[in-house]
Amino acid sequence: MTGKTHMAVGVGAATIMLPSNDIKSILGGTALAVIGSLIVDIDTHKSKGFIFLKNLLGCAIILIILGLLVKFKFNINIFNYITQNKELTKLFPALGILLILIVLGTKAPHRSFTHSIIGFILFTIPIYMMTGELFKWFAIGYIAHILADMLNKKEIKILYPMKKGIALHLCSADGKVDKFLFIISVGIIILKYLSYINSIVNWH
Ligand SMILES: [Zn+2]
Repeated sequence: MTGKTHMAVGVGAATIMLPSNDIKSILGGTALAVIGSLIVDIDTHKSKGFIFLKNLLGCAIILIILGLLVKFKFNINIFNYITQNKELTKLFPALGILLILIVLGTKAPHRSFTHSIIGFILFTIPIYMMTGELFKWFAIGYIAHILADMLNKKEIKILYPMKKGIALHLCSADGKVDKFLFIISVGIIILKYLSYINSIVNWH
């Protein structure tokens, strides 16, 4: 599954549950779901790893630019919203834990530690410390990634460090399932943003 499909599926899954009338929740939830859906593949190595890192950096830059645009245009500080107005120094312990997990994740074999239940629990801890109850949007992006990878014929070590892996063999080699999931998810995301626009038009 490609990074863009993972991102669309993760955001799409979160989108179904996000409220339609609050732009802060929609934008904050979307950003956290993007991070959750992409962070799982930090274990991608070799040439694919380089492409992944390039895409990750691209996504981070886009998120920062969008965050700044929303701040200056609508006076909504998404970073403060996501971190629940915590001071930067209070975020350091969580950022430290996250950094350690990222280093461990990049060193682990592909589709093992980060694609497991234990990896999911460990990654949600620093995100919970930083974002409080908003961690759920990160968690949804993360779980959606693992479920989508399970469709593939290459197994994931969901019970890591146990060796047993799971693969549902539902994905065809030509990427039809990948494309299908991408289109459905993007459709759901567009509908959510349209319903938000509709809700503000009706209210004012
Ligand atoms: Zn993956």
